[in-house]
Amino acid sequence: MKIMNRLSALIALTIFAWVSSACEPPFPQTFRATTEAMATYISITVVSNDPALAQEAIDAAFGEIRELEKTLSFWTEDSEVARINATAGKGTAVKVSLTTLEVVNLSLNVARTTDGAFDPTIGPLMRLWDYRSQKIPEAGKIAKALSLVDYTKVMVDPEASSVRLTDPMMSFDTGGIAKGYATDRAVAVLRRHGISSALVAVAGDIRAIGQRADGAPWRVGIRDPRSDSPEEIIAYIELTNKAVSTSGDYERYFIRDGKRYHHIIDPRTGHPVTGAMSVTIISDKSVLSDGYSTALFVQGPEKAMQSMQSLGLEGLIIDSDGRVHISAGLKKMIQWTSTTYPPH
Ligand code: AMP
Ligand code: MG
Repeated sequence: MKIMNRLSALIALTIFAWVSSACEPPFPQTFRATTEAMATYISITVVSNDPALAQEAIDAAFGEIRELEKTLSFWTEDSEVARINATAGKGTAVKVSLTTLEVVNLSLNVARTTDGAFDPTIGPLMRLWDYRSQKIPEAGKIAKALSLVDYTKVMVDPEASSVRLTDPMMSFDTGGIAKGYATDRAVAVLRRHGISSALVAVAGDIRAIGQRADGAPWRVGIRDPRSDSPEEIIAYIELTNKAVSTSGDYERYFIRDGKRYHHIIDPRTGHPVTGAMSVTIISDKSVLSDGYSTALFVQGPEKAMQSMQSLGLEGLIIDSDGRVHISAGLKKMIQWTSTTYPPH
């Protein structure tokens, strides 16, 4: 994380680019800037008549994401989430900001509505699975960490704005939802700056407001889950005032004896989830797309398709055999550019 922060500083915050304009100013123009934060790549595209305002809005949105990272990071020692984790099982509730309170509540809501397929207390297992050293943790250690995973042991006091983990060694991981939350907050900042058309992408968590400068809907690519290049797109989704998130087994992983070990962990087994290569979810807010794309990845294709219906989400799943399962609503919004992944 430290390396990432230094890297972001070196990148000098923003690479601000005027992208295109069909006509001369003051007609709408497109501005795009990228940066790194939350250990990932962030890009914001806005449509505006005013380059100075566009830059100001984008810088403010990047600033917001950096602040959220300081508050919500699971990996640093001085975030509010780290303070909650440091006092686990000690009986003391940690007073937190409204931001942390909201993220905890939203996470618990995704957990409850997916019967714990999404479990933000997955922290002890995430610390065990080290994708850099590429070691499979010992069975005993997995069993011990697994016994600490239980979202019903997160106590929230909304009046006191405090959070408490009941058992020692428990830890709350925001990784499955924080990027989506940050995307929504960045959109809110852009709106406060008078921007009504924009595309915000915090890694795979993307939200579109308004439309492109040429009046067309924003287009978001679905990447090929088995290509090393994020540029390898298998389909496009047209988005207006919607959020899309993809959870994939290609984000953080290693291969051992032909088996893929990745970063989405089944809270029932303590092991990486099998059954899907990627799950894409569309909803009104990024925090929901993000939380549910992780949750439905854990549920597996069959249950996930049922959950989409009951939760009012659209989406598609590429299962582990490379077959596509797609919701009826999404079929109308998607254009395929590849036949590598046939429909189920
Ligand atoms: P995403 O890329 O949004 O699907 O999130 C993956 C991240 O979510 C992982 O890196 C973990 O931090 C976290 N995570 C992994 N498994 C789970 C799970 N079963 N429930 C909640 N969060 C999880
Ligand atoms: Mg997620």
